Amino acid sequence: MKKIVIAALATFALTLSAFSQKDEFAGFYKGTIEAKKCYPSTICPEIFAEVYRGPNETYRLRLVPAIMNRCDVFYEMGNLKAKDGKIAFSGASNYYDLKGEITPGSIVAEGFVQGKNPAKFKLERLNIVSPTMGAKPPAGAKVLFDGKNFDSWRHGDANTPVNWKLVGDGAMQVQPAIKEGKKRIGGSIFTKETFGPFQLHLEFKMPMYYNKLGQARANSGVIVGDYEVQLLDSFGCDGIWNECGSIYRQVAPLVNACTEPGSWQTYDITYTPAVVKNGKVEKDPTFTVYHNGVLVQKDTPVAYKTSLFPSDGRTYKHTGAPVSIQLQDHGDLLEFRNIWIQNL
Ligand code: MG
Repeated sequence: MKKIVIAALATFALTLSAFSQKDEFAGFYKGTIEAKKCYPSTICPEIFAEVYRGPNETYRLRLVPAIMNRCDVFYEMGNLKAKDGKIAFSGASNYYDLKGEITPGSIVAEGFVQGKNPAKFKLERLNIVSPTMGAKPPAGAKVLFDGKNFDSWRHGDANTPVNWKLVGDGAMQVQPAIKEGKKRIGGSIFTKETFGPFQLHLEFKMPMYYNKLGQARANSGVIVGDYEVQLLDSFGCDGIWNECGSIYRQVAPLVNACTEPGSWQTYDITYTPAVVKNGKVEKDPTFTVYHNGVLVQKDTPVAYKTSLFPSDGRTYKHTGAPVSIQLQDHGDLLEFRNIWIQNL
Protein backbone atom coordinates (compact mmCIF):
# COMPACT_ATOMS: atom_id res chain seq x y z
CA MET A 1 0.00 0.00 0.00
CA LYS A 2 2.77 2.37 1.05
CA LYS A 3 4.64 1.59 -2.18
CA ILE A 4 1.56 2.38 -4.25
CA VAL A 5 1.12 5.73 -2.48
CA ILE A 6 4.79 6.60 -3.02
CA ALA A 7 4.60 5.56 -6.69
CA ALA A 8 1.42 7.61 -7.12
CA LEU A 9 3.04 10.62 -5.44
CA ALA A 10 6.13 10.24 -7.65
CA THR A 11 3.95 10.12 -10.79
CA PHE A 12 2.04 13.16 -9.56
CA ALA A 13 5.31 15.04 -8.91
CA LEU A 14 6.57 14.07 -12.38
CA THR A 15 3.31 15.24 -13.95
CA LEU A 16 3.58 18.52 -12.03
CA SER A 17 7.18 19.08 -13.11
CA ALA A 18 6.26 18.22 -16.71
CA PHE A 19 3.70 21.03 -16.52
CA SER A 20 5.93 23.53 -14.73
CA GLN A 21 9.27 23.08 -16.51
CA LYS A 22 9.63 25.39 -19.48
CA ASP A 23 11.11 23.60 -22.47
CA GLU A 24 14.70 24.69 -23.12
CA PHE A 25 14.40 24.72 -26.93
CA ALA A 26 10.82 25.90 -27.64
CA GLY A 27 10.55 29.53 -28.74
CA PHE A 28 11.68 32.05 -31.33
CA TYR A 29 15.20 32.65 -32.66
CA LYS A 30 16.65 35.40 -34.88
CA GLY A 31 19.76 35.51 -37.04
CA THR A 32 21.34 35.87 -40.46
CA ILE A 33 22.10 33.89 -43.59
CA GLU A 34 25.64 34.07 -44.94
CA ALA A 35 25.46 33.31 -48.67
CA LYS A 36 26.08 34.84 -52.11
CA LYS A 37 22.44 34.57 -53.11
CA CYS A 38 19.33 34.16 -51.03
CA TYR A 39 15.71 33.49 -51.72
CA PRO A 40 13.47 35.35 -52.48
CA SER A 41 15.70 38.46 -52.36
CA THR A 42 19.25 38.45 -53.72
CA ILE A 43 20.18 40.34 -50.55
CA CYS A 44 20.66 37.89 -47.72
CA PRO A 45 18.05 38.78 -45.17
CA GLU A 46 17.66 38.34 -41.49
CA ILE A 47 15.97 35.09 -40.68
CA PHE A 48 13.82 33.81 -37.83
CA ALA A 49 13.13 30.36 -36.45
CA GLU A 50 10.23 28.91 -34.52
CA VAL A 51 10.92 25.78 -32.47
CA TYR A 52 7.67 24.11 -31.44
CA ARG A 53 7.43 21.21 -29.01
CA GLY A 54 4.60 18.78 -29.67
CA PRO A 55 3.50 15.48 -28.13
CA ASN A 56 5.96 12.69 -27.25
CA GLU A 57 8.93 15.07 -26.86
CA THR A 58 9.10 15.77 -30.57
CA TYR A 59 10.04 19.14 -32.02
CA ARG A 60 9.35 21.02 -35.23
CA LEU A 61 11.72 23.62 -36.65
CA ARG A 62 10.51 26.29 -39.04
CA LEU A 63 12.72 28.94 -40.68
CA VAL A 64 10.68 31.98 -41.63
CA PRO A 65 11.34 35.55 -42.85
CA ALA A 66 9.34 37.06 -39.96
CA ILE A 67 7.57 36.11 -36.75
CA MET A 68 4.12 37.25 -35.56
CA ASN A 69 3.34 37.82 -39.24
CA ARG A 70 1.69 35.81 -41.95
CA CYS A 71 4.57 34.70 -44.19
CA ASP A 72 6.25 31.92 -46.18
CA VAL A 73 7.88 28.98 -44.47
CA PHE A 74 11.37 28.68 -46.00
CA TYR A 75 12.23 25.44 -44.23
CA GLU A 76 10.34 22.97 -42.05
CA MET A 77 11.55 19.83 -40.32
CA GLY A 78 9.32 17.92 -37.92
CA ASN A 79 9.55 14.85 -35.71
CA LEU A 80 12.91 15.98 -34.32
CA LYS A 81 14.23 14.58 -31.04
CA ALA A 82 16.58 16.10 -28.47
CA LYS A 83 19.69 14.11 -27.60
CA ASP A 84 22.64 15.11 -25.40
CA GLY A 85 21.35 18.66 -24.96
CA LYS A 86 20.78 19.40 -28.64
CA ILE A 87 18.45 18.72 -31.54
CA ALA A 88 20.13 17.69 -34.79
CA PHE A 89 18.33 18.19 -38.09
CA SER A 90 19.14 17.56 -41.74
CA GLY A 91 17.42 17.31 -45.08
CA ALA A 92 15.78 19.33 -47.82
CA SER A 93 12.53 21.21 -47.34
CA ASN A 94 10.95 24.02 -49.36
CA TYR A 95 13.82 26.37 -50.35
CA TYR A 96 16.71 25.01 -48.26
CA ASP A 97 18.73 21.83 -47.91
CA LEU A 98 20.41 21.98 -44.49
CA LYS A 99 22.32 20.16 -41.80
CA GLY A 100 22.42 21.78 -38.40
CA GLU A 101 21.62 21.73 -34.73
CA ILE A 102 19.48 23.53 -32.19
CA THR A 103 20.90 24.18 -28.74
CA PRO A 104 18.96 26.02 -26.00
CA GLY A 105 20.62 29.35 -26.97
CA SER A 106 21.15 29.13 -30.71
CA ILE A 107 20.67 27.41 -34.04
CA VAL A 108 23.50 26.82 -36.51
CA ALA A 109 23.20 25.19 -39.93
CA GLU A 110 25.05 24.85 -43.22
CA GLY A 111 23.73 23.84 -46.59
CA PHE A 112 22.22 25.17 -49.76
CA VAL A 113 19.60 27.71 -50.78
CA GLN A 114 17.48 26.58 -53.73
CA GLY A 115 19.62 23.52 -54.29
CA LYS A 116 22.82 25.21 -55.41
CA ASN A 117 23.83 28.28 -53.43
CA PRO A 118 26.01 27.43 -50.41
CA ALA A 119 24.84 29.16 -47.23
CA LYS A 120 25.53 29.30 -43.51
CA PHE A 121 22.87 30.09 -40.91
CA LYS A 122 23.36 31.38 -37.37
CA LEU A 123 20.49 32.33 -35.08
CA GLU A 124 20.27 33.32 -31.42
CA ARG A 125 17.41 32.72 -28.99
CA LEU A 126 14.94 35.63 -28.70
CA ASN A 127 13.44 36.63 -25.38
CA ILE A 128 10.28 38.46 -26.42
CA VAL A 129 8.78 40.76 -23.82
CA SER A 130 5.55 42.53 -24.74
CA PRO A 131 5.89 46.34 -24.84
CA THR A 132 2.88 46.54 -22.50
CA MET A 133 4.20 43.99 -19.98
CA GLY A 134 3.85 45.42 -16.48
CA ALA A 135 1.83 48.40 -17.77
CA LYS A 136 0.68 50.56 -14.86
CA PRO A 137 -3.01 51.47 -14.64
CA PRO A 138 -3.47 55.04 -15.91
CA ALA A 139 -5.15 57.69 -13.76
CA GLY A 140 -8.83 56.85 -13.33
CA ALA A 141 -8.40 53.16 -14.19
CA LYS A 142 -9.75 50.48 -11.88
CA VAL A 143 -7.45 47.70 -10.73
CA LEU A 144 -9.26 44.37 -11.11
CA PHE A 145 -6.40 42.20 -9.85
CA ASP A 146 -3.03 43.08 -8.36
CA GLY A 147 -2.03 39.73 -6.90
CA LYS A 148 -3.53 40.36 -3.45
CA ASN A 149 -7.19 39.31 -3.47
CA PHE A 150 -10.32 38.54 -5.48
CA ASP A 151 -12.34 41.53 -4.20
CA SER A 152 -13.39 42.54 -7.73
CA TRP A 153 -14.52 39.03 -8.73
CA ARG A 154 -17.38 36.59 -8.21
CA HIS A 155 -18.33 33.15 -9.44
CA GLY A 156 -21.27 32.62 -11.81
CA ASP A 157 -23.03 30.94 -8.90
CA ALA A 158 -23.51 33.56 -6.18
CA ASN A 159 -23.14 30.97 -3.37
CA THR A 160 -19.69 29.84 -4.47
CA PRO A 161 -16.79 31.87 -3.11
CA VAL A 162 -13.99 32.65 -5.57
CA ASN A 163 -11.30 30.10 -4.87
CA TRP A 164 -8.87 30.50 -7.71
CA LYS A 165 -5.36 30.26 -6.32
CA LEU A 166 -2.96 33.07 -5.53
CA VAL A 167 0.27 31.58 -6.81
CA GLY A 168 2.88 34.25 -6.15
CA ASP A 169 4.55 36.47 -8.74
CA GLY A 170 1.41 38.64 -8.34
CA ALA A 171 -0.57 35.98 -10.18
CA MET A 172 -3.73 33.91 -9.82
CA GLN A 173 -4.37 30.50 -11.32
CA VAL A 174 -7.59 29.01 -12.69
CA GLN A 175 -9.32 26.67 -10.26
CA PRO A 176 -11.18 24.20 -12.48
CA ALA A 177 -14.81 23.49 -11.62
CA ILE A 178 -15.33 20.37 -9.53
CA LYS A 179 -18.31 19.09 -7.57
CA GLU A 180 -18.10 18.05 -3.93
CA GLY A 181 -21.50 16.55 -3.20
CA LYS A 182 -23.93 19.32 -4.01
CA LYS A 183 -21.28 22.00 -3.61
CA ARG A 184 -19.59 23.39 -6.67
CA ILE A 185 -15.98 24.51 -6.32
CA GLY A 186 -14.05 26.54 -8.86
CA GLY A 187 -15.17 27.53 -12.33
CA SER A 188 -15.14 30.74 -14.34
CA ILE A 189 -14.93 34.08 -12.51
CA PHE A 190 -16.73 37.31 -13.38
CA THR A 191 -16.12 40.97 -12.53
CA LYS A 192 -18.59 42.15 -9.89
CA GLU A 193 -18.90 45.41 -11.77
CA THR A 194 -20.33 45.77 -15.26
CA PHE A 195 -18.77 47.93 -17.95
CA GLY A 196 -19.68 49.85 -21.09
CA PRO A 197 -16.89 50.83 -23.47
CA PHE A 198 -13.51 50.04 -21.95
CA GLN A 199 -9.82 49.39 -22.35
CA LEU A 200 -8.61 46.30 -20.49
CA HIS A 201 -5.05 45.22 -19.75
CA LEU A 202 -4.23 41.73 -18.56
CA GLU A 203 -1.25 39.41 -18.47
CA PHE A 204 -1.46 35.64 -18.79
CA LYS A 205 0.74 32.58 -18.79
CA MET A 206 -0.12 29.35 -20.59
CA PRO A 207 0.70 26.09 -18.84
CA MET A 208 2.97 23.78 -20.78
CA TYR A 209 0.71 21.04 -22.12
CA TYR A 210 3.21 19.76 -24.67
CA ASN A 211 1.38 16.46 -25.06
CA LYS A 212 -1.91 18.11 -25.98
CA LEU A 213 -3.05 19.56 -29.26
CA GLY A 214 -5.62 22.00 -30.63
CA GLN A 215 -8.31 23.25 -28.26
CA ALA A 216 -6.92 21.05 -25.43
CA ARG A 217 -3.66 22.99 -25.33
CA ALA A 218 -4.36 25.46 -22.48
CA ASN A 219 -7.79 26.90 -23.20
CA SER A 220 -9.44 29.84 -21.46
CA GLY A 221 -10.91 33.11 -22.65
CA VAL A 222 -11.71 36.71 -21.85
CA ILE A 223 -15.48 36.68 -22.23
CA VAL A 224 -16.96 40.16 -22.47
CA GLY A 225 -20.70 39.78 -21.93
CA ASP A 226 -21.70 37.40 -24.74
CA TYR A 227 -18.45 37.60 -26.72
CA GLU A 228 -15.22 35.66 -26.23
CA VAL A 229 -11.72 36.81 -27.04
CA GLN A 230 -10.04 33.40 -27.11
CA LEU A 231 -7.11 32.43 -24.92
CA LEU A 232 -5.27 29.31 -26.08
CA ASP A 233 -1.69 28.15 -26.33
CA SER A 234 -1.48 28.64 -30.09
CA PHE A 235 2.30 29.01 -30.30
CA GLY A 236 3.35 27.36 -33.58
CA CYS A 237 -0.23 27.23 -34.90
CA ASP A 238 -1.70 28.89 -37.97
CA GLY A 239 -3.66 31.68 -36.26
CA ILE A 240 -7.13 30.56 -37.25
CA TRP A 241 -10.66 31.41 -36.09
CA ASN A 242 -10.64 29.41 -32.83
CA GLU A 243 -7.07 30.14 -31.70
CA CYS A 244 -5.51 32.76 -29.46
CA GLY A 245 -6.39 36.30 -30.46
CA SER A 246 -9.53 35.24 -32.31
CA ILE A 247 -13.03 36.45 -31.65
CA TYR A 248 -13.79 32.83 -30.86
CA ARG A 249 -15.21 30.92 -33.82
CA GLN A 250 -16.04 34.11 -35.67
CA VAL A 251 -12.94 36.11 -36.63
CA ALA A 252 -9.33 34.85 -36.88
CA PRO A 253 -6.56 37.07 -35.49
CA LEU A 254 -4.73 39.18 -38.09
CA VAL A 255 -1.56 37.30 -37.09
CA ASN A 256 -0.57 34.68 -34.53
CA ALA A 257 1.24 36.69 -31.84
CA CYS A 258 1.68 33.87 -29.30
CA THR A 259 4.98 33.34 -27.59
CA GLU A 260 5.93 29.90 -26.29
CA PRO A 261 3.97 28.34 -23.40
CA GLY A 262 5.33 29.18 -19.98
CA SER A 263 6.13 32.78 -21.00
CA TRP A 264 4.11 35.75 -19.72
CA GLN A 265 2.02 37.41 -22.44
CA THR A 266 -0.28 40.43 -22.65
CA TYR A 267 -3.71 41.33 -23.96
CA ASP A 268 -4.76 44.95 -24.39
CA ILE A 269 -8.42 44.91 -25.37
CA THR A 270 -10.64 47.82 -26.36
CA TYR A 271 -14.36 47.02 -26.40
CA THR A 272 -17.13 49.18 -27.82
CA PRO A 273 -20.68 47.97 -27.11
CA ALA A 274 -23.35 47.71 -29.78
CA VAL A 275 -25.35 50.83 -30.54
CA VAL A 276 -29.02 49.96 -30.11
CA LYS A 277 -31.75 52.53 -30.67
CA ASN A 278 -35.46 51.85 -30.22
CA GLY A 279 -34.73 48.13 -30.17
CA LYS A 280 -32.82 48.32 -33.45
CA VAL A 281 -29.11 47.40 -33.64
CA GLU A 282 -27.49 50.30 -35.48
CA LYS A 283 -23.90 49.12 -34.94
CA ASP A 284 -22.44 45.77 -33.86
CA PRO A 285 -20.07 45.69 -30.87
CA THR A 286 -16.39 45.89 -31.80
CA PHE A 287 -13.06 44.73 -30.40
CA THR A 288 -9.55 46.00 -30.94
CA VAL A 289 -7.02 43.57 -29.48
CA TYR A 290 -3.27 43.84 -29.09
CA HIS A 291 -1.63 40.51 -28.21
CA ASN A 292 1.91 40.97 -26.92
CA GLY A 293 1.73 44.50 -28.34
CA VAL A 294 0.83 43.20 -31.82
CA LEU A 295 -2.48 44.26 -33.40
CA VAL A 296 -4.58 41.09 -33.89
CA GLN A 297 -8.11 42.56 -34.08
CA LYS A 298 -8.79 46.04 -35.44
CA ASP A 299 -12.27 47.46 -34.76
CA THR A 300 -13.59 43.99 -35.45
CA PRO A 301 -17.38 43.80 -35.42
CA VAL A 302 -18.84 40.78 -33.64
CA ALA A 303 -21.89 39.30 -35.31
CA TYR A 304 -23.45 37.30 -32.47
CA LYS A 305 -23.07 35.58 -29.11
CA THR A 306 -20.01 33.30 -29.02
CA SER A 307 -21.85 30.18 -27.85
CA LEU A 308 -24.24 30.19 -30.83
CA PHE A 309 -23.85 28.47 -34.16
CA PRO A 310 -24.00 30.77 -37.20
CA SER A 311 -27.53 29.62 -38.07
CA ASP A 312 -28.81 30.73 -34.64
CA GLY A 313 -26.54 33.76 -34.70
CA ARG A 314 -28.59 35.26 -37.51
CA THR A 315 -31.49 35.91 -35.14
CA TYR A 316 -29.33 37.03 -32.18
CA LYS A 317 -29.83 40.63 -31.08
CA HIS A 318 -27.13 42.63 -29.31
CA THR A 319 -28.43 44.65 -26.37
CA GLY A 320 -25.58 47.14 -25.94
CA ALA A 321 -26.07 46.83 -22.16
CA PRO A 322 -23.13 47.05 -19.72
CA VAL A 323 -21.39 43.70 -19.27
CA SER A 324 -19.43 41.64 -16.80
CA ILE A 325 -16.03 40.39 -17.90
CA GLN A 326 -15.42 36.69 -17.40
CA LEU A 327 -12.12 34.82 -17.13
CA GLN A 328 -13.06 31.41 -18.44
CA ASP A 329 -12.35 28.14 -16.67
CA HIS A 330 -11.85 25.57 -19.38
CA GLY A 331 -10.20 23.11 -17.00
CA ASP A 332 -6.68 24.32 -17.80
CA LEU A 333 -4.26 25.93 -15.34
CA LEU A 334 -3.64 29.32 -16.89
CA GLU A 335 -2.29 32.13 -14.71
CA PHE A 336 -3.33 35.80 -14.81
CA ARG A 337 -1.82 38.95 -13.32
CA ASN A 338 -1.86 42.76 -13.53
CA ILE A 339 -5.46 43.23 -14.65
CA TRP A 340 -6.89 46.72 -14.88
CA ILE A 341 -9.67 48.45 -16.77
CA GLN A 342 -10.28 51.98 -17.96
CA ASN A 343 -13.79 53.17 -18.81
CA LEU A 344 -13.84 55.00 -22.13
MG1 MG B 1 -11.88 29.52 -24.68
